[in-house]
Amino acid sequence: MEENFLKKSYQSKSGKKYWPTIGLEIHAELKTNSKMFCSCKNDPFNSKPNENICEICTAQPGALPYVNYEAVKKVLKVGKALSGKIADFSEFDRKNYFYPDMPKAYQISQYKYPLISGGNLANSPITRIHLEEDTASSSHKGEYSYVDFNRAGVPLMELVTEPEIKNSDHASFFAKELQLLLRTLDVSGANLEKGEMRIEANVSISEHENKENNPEFFGTKTEVKNLNSFKIVQSAIEYEIQRQIEVLEKGEKVDQETRGWDENKAKTFSQRKKENSEDYRYFPDPDIPKYKLSEISEFSEKEISENLPELPLEKRERYFNSFSLKAEDVEFFLQNPEYDKIFEKASLNFSENKKAFSLLSNYLTSDIAGIMKKENSLEKLKNFSAENMTKIISMILEGKISSRGAKDILIELFERSGDAEKIAGDKNLIQSSDEGELEKIVQEIATQFPDQVQKFKAGDENLLKFFMGQAMKKTGGSANPQILTEIFKKIL
Ligand code: ADP
Ligand code: ZN
Ligand code: MG
Repeated sequence: MEENFLKKSYQSKSGKKYWPTIGLEIHAELKTNSKMFCSCKNDPFNSKPNENICEICTAQPGALPYVNYEAVKKVLKVGKALSGKIADFSEFDRKNYFYPDMPKAYQISQYKYPLISGGNLANSPITRIHLEEDTASSSHKGEYSYVDFNRAGVPLMELVTEPEIKNSDHASFFAKELQLLLRTLDVSGANLEKGEMRIEANVSISEHENKENNPEFFGTKTEVKNLNSFKIVQSAIEYEIQRQIEVLEKGEKVDQETRGWDENKAKTFSQRKKENSEDYRYFPDPDIPKYKLSEISEFSEKEISENLPELPLEKRERYFNSFSLKAEDVEFFLQNPEYDKIFEKASLNFSENKKAFSLLSNYLTSDIAGIMKKENSLEKLKNFSAENMTKIISMILEGKISSRGAKDILIELFERSGDAEKIAGDKNLIQSSDEGELEKIVQEIATQFPDQVQKFKAGDENLLKFFMGQAMKKTGGSANPQILTEIFKKIL
């Protein structure tokens, strides 16, 4: 992972070296009951257009916005989880620009006094996190354009990083970590395809390595929008670096502009020349009170800290330390909370038994995840309850079932649900571990095949397979192979 956090240079065809500078701006729609400045339902995916609207989120004259404290709290939670500084004073500003999906002709956002300053994620410093409102969504059919206000006024958080993202891998890694964090904190669905999380990458190149990130040495940046997958974040940044190198190599200048990503052509394209913050004529919104956050009990920093769930970094560490799981298994559990719940609960039944943890983790991340590909539903996953998994692992550890038997039980659980122990019994998967009984069988085999016993004693170890085969025949395959092997070695 560490090598992902190194800045790398690019060599042009003429042999010049260029160093990229990358910063991210990431928006996320917050999961709240109501919208940011009114009490309309926060449900941007309502298939019926313009159902969750009122005079505030459609900007009727005289309507007054009021702040959704739940949204503020969610941003404070994110800020705290990222070790950012919660503002003592905060206010909302009007960001003026005209667009059909914003009837006020301004967006309520935050400019000078964001809720959170500083912080760090994935080895990358964060500049700020602020809160604003989402716009309406528009669509175009034939000669008509349609505007749906269900999304207008949905709380939107914006996180801005310092221009210190080291490379395109690092950028997509940062975004993935943020998605994981937003989901862990339950503040956003953070689904990229649905637009719940939107990533913009700022990219520039320079001939200076500029280790201190001195803005004087930065090149002109472009901002690439609509990056709706982690893969695209990576491709778009790489594309933009190469494109800018070509521009400079031709002796031209990089335009400061906003660009989009064309997935079919795998190219960025110019959307508009970038406006500066002056163009937005920001000013404090006179309709919304200013806040001394420390004076509002709901925003108590202490309470927010105390109520943070276990964060991904903490969970990783705990899983490595307490369970010695493989890194990829830990990531699987972080990304799949439903599987993780089963692991957490079942693992409680095996204190400090590393073998049990590793079996449990294997069955969940590989066998069960594989079986579930046939029909991935929460309902089906319930068949693999912590109780059933505990039973399966215990039966394996006690030598009652083989790993083959365990797999049969998993398939049966998937198809018909039920109780793991009962299935083991019904399907004759219980191995005989009764040593007395097995010894008797071994004796029988020994008298039946004296020649083979002679050869075995003379050192022909291969005959063990033959003896095992005979014993399995006699027991109908139900003998515990480990115990059986031991008995053969002991008696013969
Ligand atoms: P703007 O005012 O154009 O929005 P900001 O200073 O607010 O620019 O920065 C927006 C984002 O661009 C931040 O993530 C920041 O880290 C990044 N950024 C700033 N300058 C550069 C640069 N020269 N190259 C790449 N990214 C940059
Ligand atoms: Zn409303
Ligand atoms: Mg900006």
